[in-house]
Amino acid sequence: MSRSPQSPLPLFPLAVASLPIVGRSETFPVGRILCVGRNYAAHAQEMGASGSEPPFFFMKSTNSLWDIEGAQGRWPYPTGTHDCHHELEIVLAMGPGGNSGDAEVWGLALGLDMTRRDRQAEMKSAGKPWEVGKAFPAAAPTTPITALADLGIAPDPSAVRSALEATELRLMVGSELRQSGSPRQMLCPIPELLCAIRAEFGLQAGDLIFTGTPSGVGPVHPGDGLRGELLTPDGRALIPALRLEVLAAAI
Ligand code: MN
Repeated sequence: MSRSPQSPLPLFPLAVASLPIVGRSETFPVGRILCVGRNYAAHAQEMGASGSEPPFFFMKSTNSLWDIEGAQGRWPYPTGTHDCHHELEIVLAMGPGGNSGDAEVWGLALGLDMTRRDRQAEMKSAGKPWEVGKAFPAAAPTTPITALADLGIAPDPSAVRSALEATELRLMVGSELRQSGSPRQMLCPIPELLCAIRAEFGLQAGDLIFTGTPSGVGPVHPGDGLRGELLTPDGRALIPALRLEVLAAAI
């Protein structure tokens, strides 16, 4: 049998995961979801660690990506847990680099590193990997991405660090303030974080980086309304807020 002169076609179509971009008609294609564990000392301590150890990394698959806007703010409480926790995080969206050809920060979003804490704890105590606690379907609800260019922030890691360090990250559940902290408290600041991830995994356009959560993580329940914000010193939202309603069952 002779080979076709054309490129082989995939056996079946595979959808590309994506998020909306604020104020633009294009979508942002998502390849990998890289997460940083225990990057805020107070959260490391509430998880039983010292808060003086270097952060570490784990991943979720694109199956965990949940486009909050596309889902009209609704999020299904996951199966297989009785203790699902919120972790509000700043998300860096990596785009193609300029002259260097390397990936660079293209935009910012807010995301929730939702965690089946009971399942994670079982695996931790057994010395096994955490995926069942972290990488379940819809485990990474994320807002639309705001382009750095639209915020007047240069795609340089130190510029991103400076802009973020002037902000406060806050999560309300109903009328209760559950999480608050500033990227100033990151144990591994943005430039060092990008270097470490590049060294361990390489950095690619389409990567989302969940940069760690401040203290105050805790359970969510069906019916809860979550509101996450990244506020500048004058109380203005740097990027659009995250708003999520927890539903009882899968949509
Ligand atoms: Mn996290």
